[in-house]
Amino acid sequence: MKDFLYKKYRPKNILNFIGQKVAKSFFFFFYKKKKFPSSYIFYGSKGTGKTTFSRIFSKSIMCKKKKILCKCKTCINFNKNDDFNEIDAASNRRVEDISVIFENIKYRPIYSNYKIYVLDEVHMLSKHAFNYMLNILENLPNYIKIILVTSNIDKIPETILSRCFKIFFKKINKKEIYLFLKKILKKENVLLKKNLVKEIAFCSNGSMRDALVQIDYILTLKNFLSFKDIKKNFGLNDSIYSCKIIKYIVFNNEKKLFSLLKTIFNNENNFKNIYIRILDKINKIILYLFSKKYNIINFDKKFKIFNSVKIDFFLFRKLLIKEIKNISVIPYKENFLSGIIKIFNHINIQNRIRTDKLLSRKF
Ligand SMILES: [Zn+2]
Repeated sequence: MKDFLYKKYRPKNILNFIGQKVAKSFFFFFYKKKKFPSSYIFYGSKGTGKTTFSRIFSKSIMCKKKKILCKCKTCINFNKNDDFNEIDAASNRRVEDISVIFENIKYRPIYSNYKIYVLDEVHMLSKHAFNYMLNILENLPNYIKIILVTSNIDKIPETILSRCFKIFFKKINKKEIYLFLKKILKKENVLLKKNLVKEIAFCSNGSMRDALVQIDYILTLKNFLSFKDIKKNFGLNDSIYSCKIIKYIVFNNEKKLFSLLKTIFNNENNFKNIYIRILDKINKIILYLFSKKYNIINFDKKFKIFNSVKIDFFLFRKLLIKEIKNISVIPYKENFLSGIIKIFNHINIQNRIRTDKLLSRKF
């Protein structure tokens, strides 16, 4: 493999951009109206495509032919186009740096419709640099477009925000990530276990870049690591463990729970991840039960086994969140074990009291 996947599969135009429906809709709306606001702020967590989108966005509006899939000179030479300026604000924080960058703002674009400035990580700018930016935004010539990009919108002064068109980049859906990974692995002719790919999509936390970097990492190490090692490293067993733990707690199966905890204790090291998996499933069970009760949507049928269970899943969730907080502070194995046992006892004692009450009422 020559190229890293995360580079190779970076979207080149708006049509093959995964996720971010809102951003795309705004783009098409402006495109149709042939009117683009002059300053933007793209915000949202890392790896959601803000920077890539700002490049695609710029390329499309800079093209004099105004085409999305265009092969004109301006589009082909986009990377070398002097009218497009991408600046890393983290390494150009000071007002002195920023003023040098915007020095030539007074000159009209040479090859394109607009001259564009993208300021990545803009929250890193100093206070003076923000003041300078504010002045720029207040006096923008009509041939200039400015895109501010940040993963930390709270650090941007309100005065700047109010002058920009805000577009939020949300975390990409796990399923969308999984389907995309599947597609490119097929294209690359690479065979990876389905569970592993699913796990990577889950762990990417909504970041396509993270998911692709993980795949690159596995493909690089594939010849040196056994599948067992990869499984351990990526917490591939965590999903299976979490399902079993929930079942054993809910169905009061102490013996099986303890034997499973022993296996986990001897083989695993990322206990927080197992907790997170349990929480994710408990959330889904709650949703399933809720949607079933109110006949809203037909949710995941695999939770059918919980239909007749009289467990308070909200209590389960509350206890779990408390244990996740605990293990974040003290990430010891023992802490994980005692946490699960605490939840088991709490849930089942609650349940026993309720059953006893019911029984005493009946007889
Ligand atoms: Zn073009």
